[in-house]
Amino acid sequence: MRHLLSRESGEVLAQLAWSRVLVAFDFDGTLAPIVANREMAQMRARTSDLFAKVCSLYPCAVISGRSQPDVSARLGAAPIKYVIGNHGLEPGASLNEFEEEIAHARASLEKTLAGIAGVDLEDKRYSLALHYRRSRNKRLARSAILAAVAALAVRMRVVPGKLIVNVVPERAPNKGDALMELRSAEQADTALYVGDDVTDEDVFELDQPGRLLTVRVGESRSSAAAYFLRDQKEMDRLLAKLIALREERPAT
Ligand SMILES: [Mg+2]
Repeated sequence: MRHLLSRESGEVLAQLAWSRVLVAFDFDGTLAPIVANREMAQMRARTSDLFAKVCSLYPCAVISGRSQPDVSARLGAAPIKYVIGNHGLEPGASLNEFEEEIAHARASLEKTLAGIAGVDLEDKRYSLALHYRRSRNKRLARSAILAAVAALAVRMRVVPGKLIVNVVPERAPNKGDALMELRSAEQADTALYVGDDVTDEDVFELDQPGRLLTVRVGESRSSAAAYFLRDQKEMDRLLAKLIALREERPAT
């Protein structure tokens, strides 16, 4: 994993910025800092200004685990081209089926997990998020959640995250599928993707040499991302660099 803002990475980023590129980001932990209360998550004012400018210079996408309306409402007035919610499945095909599966799963999980203190079920219509940030015994809460999901009548995909277990319909497209579809819809040659969590590994694991640059917020040995930012605050530097590079793009 290499640092994206190092001098050595400058050329890679410049080549990308001067290509026909789709620029895509996760939201929580990437564009916005992680906060204890997920309802309060928002971009810093400076990030928000830079992000709006990047959206005016590049075709941009946000691909979040939040529902699409939820994440859209957090992007301010940025002229963003694509907003994808629910880990890559919203908008998309088969939403009615996913909604039905999730409603059944929710009813069952509410029953099974009723006795586990500190577990919050978030219903995002096409997927569920089981938060255990408030739980005193996090290991116990996590294993109770995983056991309850494994016992569901309809098999679900489990995506662990930061003090959260995401429950997604098994056949639903993931963030990687969503990004590939957007890159081709945009007829872009390359894509840049920045994320910070387990669900972003679906993008990081794509094998797209020369056509996808993957960046993780936070260096990690277990991640498949090729580059990293040291922390979420470095997002502002990356956005500023993307702006500067596009503005000084050599005439073709
Ligand atoms: Mg995230």
